[in-house]
Amino acid sequence: MSRKPIIAGNWKMNKNVQEAMAFVEEVKGQLPSEEVVESVIGASAVLLNGVKFQASGSALKVAAQNCYFEDAGAFTGETSPKVLADLGADYVIIGHSERRDYFHETDEDINKKAHAIFRNGLTPIICCGESLETYEAGKAVEFVGAQVSAALKGLTAEQVAASVIAYEPIWAIGTGKSATKDDAQTMCKAVRDVVVADFGQEVADKVRVQYGGSVNPANIAEYMACPDVDGALVGGASLEPASFLELLAAVK
Ligand code: PEP
Repeated sequence: MSRKPIIAGNWKMNKNVQEAMAFVEEVKGQLPSEEVVESVIGASAVLLNGVKFQASGSALKVAAQNCYFEDAGAFTGETSPKVLADLGADYVIIGHSERRDYFHETDEDINKKAHAIFRNGLTPIICCGESLETYEAGKAVEFVGAQVSAALKGLTAEQVAASVIAYEPIWAIGTGKSATKDDAQTMCKAVRDVVVADFGQEVADKVRVQYGGSVNPANIAEYMACPDVDGALVGGASLEPASFLELLAAVK
């Protein structure tokens, strides 16, 4: 089963308007073919409109880093998935560990967000991942499996097949301490196994699973060589145009 690789940069709450526009201007003419790899930048909500506009006519796709699970209403400060669709976003990253930890997002919130994202014609990049304590206790597969199952609850087979799931061990995010390629493969396969159990083999063969956690141009190739790793979600190494382009170029 061939799945198109997807490399998504997660800028987090970095870059001002000028920096974001300069980045897109620099990379947009140098992106690899969309036939080979999907190139995505996850920018903060206030930058999305500009990034989308600046990227127009190029292969660069745009991801929000969060959204609310209602389309509109009295939810001061929240980001509407309907408006994200309106401005042309392609993906929405949900369930990032920083949102789970700092903003207390639950599996139930993430599931509601996944439904809202599909309802508005967007695609979720659903993050999951265990803490160091859980990893060291040998409970990563069980823990991450429960997160994935909860996030996908009630979605259709077609929606799950179109989803992207990013396995990101919390201990590897922003730490420079990346997972071994064997751990990444084991966990991305475990994620796919949950999809097999909940939605069947055909759906699991289509869903794309990324590894994330201190991925950089020097180590991305070994992750991409793993049969169940279909791409990467990258924080730090996506901030500089040259590094982002190197990540993309490593996908063959
Ligand atoms: C992330 O923010 O999702 C991430 C994986 O960050 P980093 O690549 O910096 O570890």
